[in-house]
Amino acid sequence: MVILFFKIKKIKNKLEIIATHDKLITEIYNRLEMNKRLIEEIERAKRYKTPLSIIYFDIDYFKKINDTYGHEKGDFVLKEISKLIKENIRKTDIFGRWGGEEFLIILPSTKAKEAVKISEKLRKIIQEHNFDGLNVTISFGIAELKENDDNISIVNRADRALYKAKEKGRNIVVYIK
Ligand code: GH3
Ligand code: MG
Ligand code: MG
Repeated sequence: MVILFFKIKKIKNKLEIIATHDKLITEIYNRLEMNKRLIEEIERAKRYKTPLSIIYFDIDYFKKINDTYGHEKGDFVLKEISKLIKENIRKTDIFGRWGGEEFLIILPSTKAKEAVKISEKLRKIIQEHNFDGLNVTISFGIAELKENDDNISIVNRADRALYKAKEKGRNIVVYIK
């Protein structure tokens, strides 16, 4: 009986990880979990009047990487980028995959100015990394929480900033006030 209880507990823990983490990059959160965390962090930031910023980033010319070197190499790049980002952010930052090759970082207690600095650091790390003989860059969009924001409007602003970064030529960080 006791053994069964622990077995069920172990399975429950495993299922919880499967439900909240990305399928390809198992060390980071999936979109559902990121959205939940974002709603929670926005609530917290509003209640305690602390800043909150988000970093939204997307791999540059990723389609070309897939087309030229194959999907497997593309998957390798996705995993490697996730690892590099995870290693270089704070433990209190929340990191996950938002779409195919789009990622989100939630930075509690962080103003936009600081988020830009962090993004700039991450941008350089990726640019200088050797992806098994390949060079990869990413573009960043930053947004900081405003009084009237919700989880949708803040991501939209970061998305617009990312779009501007792509327009300006990629491999840059853009912040929209
Ligand atoms: P941009 O610089 O404007 O972002 O161009 P891009 O080529 O990166 O963007 P686009 O949206 O045209 O292409 C994204 C590609 O990402 C298309 C899709 O096949 C690929 N992709 C999405 N998810 C995965 C995945 O899990 N693995 C691999 N290998 N590729 C993926
Ligand atoms: Mg994209
Ligand atoms: Mg892309």
